[in-house]
Amino acid sequence: MNDNCVFCKILNKEIPSYKIYEDEFTYAFLDISKDVFGHTLVIPKKHVTNILDADETTLENVIKTIKKVSKHYTQNCGFEGVNIMNANHESAGQTVFHLHFHIIPRKTGDGVDAWPKFDGSNEELQNVCEKLKMN
Ligand code: 5GP
Ligand code: ZN
Repeated sequence: MNDNCVFCKILNKEIPSYKIYEDEFTYAFLDISKDVFGHTLVIPKKHVTNILDADETTLENVIKTIKKVSKHYTQNCGFEGVNIMNANHESAGQTVFHLHFHIIPRKTGDGVDAWPKFDGSNEELQNVCEKLKMN
């Protein structure tokens, strides 16, 4: 629990939310933005900032719930697919600093533009690989 965290307040029921699913370790609820039908957030009950400081067990719990909710949306709610989105750090557009993944339920031809059109990098992939490779 982090006193200044809006998602901890949601977990603590100090702020109301529309619950989709809950288990011992995770909570899934509707995003407040109403920008896309079914826009859902999945969070761990343990306060961690993002993927960069999260322990493996917390990440495992969250990804399992992401799959559970996604399967529910595609098997029982008339959707065919989902986009899973996540921002880590302010530089990446993270605005709430409690780990969360966005689920955007999708149907063919729904017109939702969930994948950004990147401007393009002209750097040769060989150079990129040399700068970034891990082993
Ligand atoms: P981020 O930009 O950090 O990836 O996403 C934060 C998300 O949290 C945004 O989509 C925003 O609409 C959502 N959000 C912020 N405050 C609240 C809130 O009080 N309740 C709910 N349900 N969603 C919130
Ligand atoms: Zn929190």
